[in-house]
Amino acid sequence: MLCPRDGTRLISPVDSGQSVFSRNGIFHCPTCAGLAINSEAALSEICSKKLESMHDGFKDEGTPTEICCPFCQSDMKVRDFAFRKIDGSLTELIEIDGCPECSSFWFDSGELQRLSPPNEASIDSPKSEAKALAVVLDLLFHLPYVLL
Ligand SMILES: [Zn+2]
Ligand SMILES: [Zn+2]
Repeated sequence: MLCPRDGTRLISPVDSGQSVFSRNGIFHCPTCAGLAINSEAALSEICSKKLESMHDGFKDEGTPTEICCPFCQSDMKVRDFAFRKIDGSLTELIEIDGCPECSSFWFDSGELQRLSPPNEASIDSPKSEAKALAVVLDLLFHLPYVLL
């Protein structure tokens, strides 16, 4: 599987050796720190259910994009999402690319950074950035989302 942004081969959840990647079925790009995620690859039921319900919002709606689903090569669509935090307020809007065919999503690293910028001191490579962003995603799967 290749990164839809830069064509780098994606690191599989198992090869990453990190439980947060394998639990949520997250593939990551070692070049741009983007994350690809697929409900079938997720081991956690919470994550897989969340992805399937998010997928419903891409079947008939969303704006067509140039990027190609790394899992099934269909053209992906983009929509704005916000997540509802524990205190009831909404996070900043982020753009999520979703595949209208399979339950897969692409998260650009910059989009997730807008929700929770990783501590710069701890980021020394795209790999550590991807790991920090996977933790953000893990957290988001426990929050309700709002489609805009
Ligand atoms: Zn990439
Ligand atoms: Zn797909």
